[in-house]
Amino acid sequence: MDVLTSYQAYFAGQWQESESQETIEIRSPWRHEVIGSVQSVTQNEVDQAIAAAHRVQGSWANLSMNERGQYLDRWADEIEADVNALAMAVMDEVGKNFEDAKKEVLRTVDLIHYTVQEALHMHGQSVRGDGFPGGSKDKLGIITRVPLGTVLAISPFNYPINLSAAKIAPALMAGNTVIFKPATQGSICGIKMIQAFDRAGFPAGVLSLLTGHGAIIGDYLTEHPGINMISFTGSTQTGKHLSQKSIMIPLVLELGGKDPAIVCQNADLDRTAKNIIGGAFAYSGQRCTAVKRVLVNEAVADELVAKLKPAVEALKVGSPAEGSDVVPLIDDKAADFVQGLIDDALAKGATLVTGNQRDGNLLAPTLLDNVTPEMDIAWVEPFGPVLPIIRVTSNAQAIDLANRSDFGLQASVFTQDIDEALEISRGVEAGTVQVNGRPSRGPDNFPFLGVKASGMGTQGVHNSILSMSREKLTVLNLK
Ligand code: NAP
Repeated sequence: MDVLTSYQAYFAGQWQESESQETIEIRSPWRHEVIGSVQSVTQNEVDQAIAAAHRVQGSWANLSMNERGQYLDRWADEIEADVNALAMAVMDEVGKNFEDAKKEVLRTVDLIHYTVQEALHMHGQSVRGDGFPGGSKDKLGIITRVPLGTVLAISPFNYPINLSAAKIAPALMAGNTVIFKPATQGSICGIKMIQAFDRAGFPAGVLSLLTGHGAIIGDYLTEHPGINMISFTGSTQTGKHLSQKSIMIPLVLELGGKDPAIVCQNADLDRTAKNIIGGAFAYSGQRCTAVKRVLVNEAVADELVAKLKPAVEALKVGSPAEGSDVVPLIDDKAADFVQGLIDDALAKGATLVTGNQRDGNLLAPTLLDNVTPEMDIAWVEPFGPVLPIIRVTSNAQAIDLANRSDFGLQASVFTQDIDEALEISRGVEAGTVQVNGRPSRGPDNFPFLGVKASGMGTQGVHNSILSMSREKLTVLNLK
């Protein structure tokens, strides 16, 4: 029998076991076996890691931007050199198929290099003193950006490499040090990514990786006086909790969604169906920007459903090792939750078009038609392979239903009429509206944000650097 790896945590440049002598077993969601264990770090170790982060922050920020960039570029190169092993880790730990896992890793390499370049090309500003009544030409304001201090990066399970690096890289380029707390299911991936970081030779203490259940160390980290900014991606429930705990600490939240695909009468239905299928079912719908409901004009609803049904039935379902699109969900609890939403909808009169079979945490992709606002699936984020279709009589009704959701991450509009697309885009409350395309995070240089319960603040490389630094004004008084 293989000896399972017990992964160490990364405390200020040292790989160590926790003084708690407790570890957390990580089970693969599809191999259904333990694949390793991670440290359950203590509050004392949190204190030490944060103290080390503060000790080194000044010297890290004092390096030239170019020097910081060289460390990050080396990190990206180390990740790239390890792409297959990292992609295997993603597949094993969170059940993403290998090809998609590899894309996630390579996208991360690009994201880190791009972040370096973006930071190198961001400049300060100067402001004339005579631009305001009573001002003077003898005053010149110089605006630079300075780091916030130590950033706490908390990431979710579903993109354990990319969404972690999307916080760490801008934080470091802005001159901060980082405390990284990966999702527990996802922490082996986080550890392997930080092994690459370690090989890049960063100064000790610039980043520490602390593993442990959010419920146990999460509040302690969030409320810690040594944390100067929090960048969080995860569920709305946890995000709201964090915003209650983190008083007067800058906080960026990327949370859940219920992205609608609004399908108008004159949409190109082949293109629409293709986007909806990929948008709803890739990685079993475990994506913040998955299509989570279809709001289709009744005039084209039958035709759209007729196109969606065979496409759903053609999806490859099963093991991520066989390249499946629809894979076992992250755990049984997640599968129970999705099944509960399907059962509720069917009990309330939804039409089952296809799906609703289950084998443990593997759910067949499920298409539900004639979903009404009385059904939970109309409003709740399933994070699983189920797609509700709600038939509407007008664009106005589609916009109304889109906006009655608590969420506002992205929305898609499918129409061949650009005026109609723009009118719907104006009406929909969402961070991003996609015209004739599926919701998507990226390319990573685009701003990425959610409104209402979907988030607070903006990510995307440029905005992340801004949110992890602040302006500093120096005024030259010339006379
Ligand atoms: P989650 O359960 O909220 O967990 C996210 C992270 O928060 C994990 O690292 C978790 O640690 C940690 N955490 C839990 N309780 C905490 C506490 N009290 N204090 C501090 N941290 C705590 O979310 P998930 O299930 O991993 O991810 C799925 C959700 O993320 C979905 O709702 C999805 O829509 C959303 N998401 C949003 C985006 C976006 O960009 N908007 C992207 C991806 C995912 P543990 O794992 O140790 O509990």
